[in-house]
Amino acid sequence: MISVETAKELIVKNIQPNSTSIKSLNSSLNHYLANDVISDVDIPLFNQSAMDGYAFKFSDKQLTLKVIDEIAAGDTKWVDVKNGEAVRIFTGSKLPESCDTVVMQELTERNGNELIVKDEGLKFQGNVRLKGNQLKKGAVALKKGTKLTPAAIGFLATLGIEKVSVYEKPSVAILATGSELMPLGSSLKEGQIFESNTHMLNAAINPFDVKLEINVIKDDLNTTKIAIKSALDKFDIVILSGGISVGDYDFVKECLLENEVKEVFHKIKQKPGKPLFFGKKGNKLVFALPGNPAAALSCFYMYVFPALQLTLGNLNPFLPSLQLPLAEKFIKKEGRAVFLKSVIQNNKVELLKGQDSDALQSFAIAHGLTYIPSEKDVVEQNELVEFYLLPQYVV
Ligand code: AMP
Ligand code: MG
Repeated sequence: MISVETAKELIVKNIQPNSTSIKSLNSSLNHYLANDVISDVDIPLFNQSAMDGYAFKFSDKQLTLKVIDEIAAGDTKWVDVKNGEAVRIFTGSKLPESCDTVVMQELTERNGNELIVKDEGLKFQGNVRLKGNQLKKGAVALKKGTKLTPAAIGFLATLGIEKVSVYEKPSVAILATGSELMPLGSSLKEGQIFESNTHMLNAAINPFDVKLEINVIKDDLNTTKIAIKSALDKFDIVILSGGISVGDYDFVKECLLENEVKEVFHKIKQKPGKPLFFGKKGNKLVFALPGNPAAALSCFYMYVFPALQLTLGNLNPFLPSLQLPLAEKFIKKEGRAVFLKSVIQNNKVELLKGQDSDALQSFAIAHGLTYIPSEKDVVEQNELVEFYLLPQYVV
C-alpha cells in the first residue's frame, strides 16, 4: 500500500497531455494552451486617450489653448497640434503624435474654441494609455498550460489572434460492475439496489465536455473481461466502479491484468477509497474505483479529476486547497490518511456527520474534503487543516 502523497506523485509522473490541435479562438473555450502565445503587436496598439477630453502638450497646461480639431475613436487621420493648441478627443481615440497629455472634459472650461485646463493634479502623460504599456510586441501574452477562459479568449482577440494550439480532450468510458445494481425505474427485489455511481460520475465528468460512454455489467469474469477490452479499444480513459476489493466476486483487477493493463498502483493508505487501482495500457489510463459511492467520488476528485486535468494540459491539476482552522477537535487512528466531507462555516472547517464510505448524503451538502495525513492522530480545535474545495465552488 502506498501513501496519498506517493499516489499523487505517480499520477503526475505517469500522465502526459493529450495530442494537440489548432482550433479557432471561438472553439477553444476551456481548452489549455499547448504553446506559449507570443504577441505580434504592442498593447495598446498606439497611444490612446483613456478619457473623453482634450489632448495637448503638457508644457502648455497653463495657457489658454485653441481647439483646432476633433479625433473620434477609429479616426486614422494625422493631426499636427502646435504649441498653444489642443484637439477634442474621446476614449480610445488615437493621440496625435505631437500631444502627450489628455485632460478630461469635466476638468476644463471651454468658450467657443478656447480651452482652459482646470486639472491641478494633471501629470505629464496623464489620461494616456501608452503604446505597449500592457504588453510589448514579442512578449509572452499567455503561457503554455493556461486555460482558455472567457477572459483569456477576449485577451487573445485583442492581440488579433484567430487560432490557438491546444490539447485535445480525451474520451472516457465508465464501466460499473455489480450484480446487485439495477437501473433507475426498476422495481427492486430485496437484495437489489439502484445503480447510482454512473449517474454521479457522469455528472462529475460532465463539465469536462468529453466524449463519454457508460455501461453497467454483472459480476461475471468473462463479461468483465470483454467489457474492459471493448472499453480499452475505443476510449482513452476507462473508469471502473466496484469489483476491485478482495471479495469472491471482485473480478476487475484480474480482468485488467489479462487485458495487459500495467499496474501503477493498487491500494492507498486512506479512508475512504483504500482499494483504488491505477494502471496504464500504452497511453490509455485505467482507474478502478471502489464501489461504495462516497469512496468512489472521493477517489474521483482526488485522483481521477487531476488525471483528466493533466490529459487536458493543466499544469495545476489537483483541486485547489486552503489552510483553514478546524472547528472542533478530531481524533483518528494513525497509519491511514482520511478525507472528510466538510463545510466551511464562519471561516472554519466543520466536519459533517456521516463519513462512511457509502454515505453520500453528507457529500451532497459538502463544500469540500478535509485532508488529515496518515501520521496525524489528533487535530486540535482551531489547528489548521488542508481543505480541498469541490469543483462546483471554483468554476
Ligand atoms: P464493491 O466495491 O463492488 O465491493 O461494492 C461496494 C459497495 O458499493 C456495495 O455495497 C455495492 O453494492 C455498492 N456499489 C457498487 N457499485 C455501485 C454502483 N454502481 N452504484 C451504487 N452502489 C454501488
Ligand atoms: Mg461489487
